Amino acid sequence: MSGDSPAEFGAPWPARDALRITRVRAVVTAPEGVPLVVVRIDTSEPGLHGLGCATFTQRFHAVAAAVDRHVGPLLVGRHPADIEDITRMVHFSSYWRGGPVMNNALSGVDQALWDIAGKRAGMPVYELLGGRVRAAADSYLHAGGATMEETIEQAAAILDAGYRHVRLQVGAPGLGHYGAPGGAGGHPGSPYPDGWDVWRYLRDTPKLFAYARRELGEEPGLMHDVHSRLTPKQAVALARELEPYRLFFLEDPIAPEFYDRLPEVRAAAPMPIAAGEQLSSVTDAARLVREGGVDLLRLHVSSVGGLTPARKLVALCELSGVGTAWHAPADVSPVGAAANVALDVTTPAFQIQEGHVYGEAVHEVFPGTIAPRNGYLYPNDEPGWGIELNEAEAVRHPPVTHLHERWAARVRRPDGGIEAP
Ligand code: MG
Repeated sequence: MSGDSPAEFGAPWPARDALRITRVRAVVTAPEGVPLVVVRIDTSEPGLHGLGCATFTQRFHAVAAAVDRHVGPLLVGRHPADIEDITRMVHFSSYWRGGPVMNNALSGVDQALWDIAGKRAGMPVYELLGGRVRAAADSYLHAGGATMEETIEQAAAILDAGYRHVRLQVGAPGLGHYGAPGGAGGHPGSPYPDGWDVWRYLRDTPKLFAYARRELGEEPGLMHDVHSRLTPKQAVALARELEPYRLFFLEDPIAPEFYDRLPEVRAAAPMPIAAGEQLSSVTDAARLVREGGVDLLRLHVSSVGGLTPARKLVALCELSGVGTAWHAPADVSPVGAAANVALDVTTPAFQIQEGHVYGEAVHEVFPGTIAPRNGYLYPNDEPGWGIELNEAEAVRHPPVTHLHERWAARVRRPDGGIEAP
């Protein structure tokens, strides 16, 4: 079909050498049960290839199809060094811009091109970005038990392992709270016995932090993720109740649908507000910074279009006095985690990095995966991201369509009404 010929989308200017992109494809693997989407770009130079993270756990089939069928054919025949032009071309090519599926596909492509750039230069990506302003990224892990005692037990183990910061969530009857378990039928007599009760959540959360300060002391940095389930007024009430416990940040107090009201929540909250991980539009993320919605910008770099737009947002944060705290638990591949760390160690705006300790199976699929040392994430010093994809291992962990596609559809209140997940 002539419309798919590389010549039609070929370089708009003569390249300075013969290097070309020859193949672009998505690989989906789930070594920890979470479907990870990775883009691999091959070039005309034997062995020279790049990897990027395009992980969108809930819609991985759609992202893989976007990479293989829509975005990849635009790139074949292009020189891999034209990163800015290629990312702009992909962004505009669908006419209707972005959205999470297309921007995840773009993130994978963009990060893979940066990987290739680093390999060509013989430099880690953090050096291409101007070099480090710190040795490593300080990170935090999650503690989320069914009870306050369980949560604090988990938190103490994390702190014992060398971390200085920990996110605390506690369970609740029924569905549980986000990041912490519940118990089936927690609201008997209700239309939806597995529901989540906002009023119980608002009562329990300050108790959790009072208990945490008693048990863990003054020193640890403590975070909490509301996961966008509150109204702006409820968010302000919770933030004020949590004031005595000096949170490092309060995350996603309200849903992205109401981000125009985030500045008022932030203004009334005594602790830093962190938000933005659900945005896939660089424009929306920039608006959050410019309009005073956040103290700490959170991005899912693998959803916002990759390193290229993320570094522009980093510059905006630096110039606006806003910090960064990128999203990265188990639903970011080790390639995306390496991109996070490259940004973390190269910007003065960096505050903290969400961490995840990848299991052995992930290290086998992705040799070079960054492992924390005393809670610090050190960038890999190999050229590019310094991470490889062992495809023979990857196919041993096929993705399955299950909870990850559907969990949010279960998030309802005891009366049956659906809730922001
Ligand atoms: Mg979160």
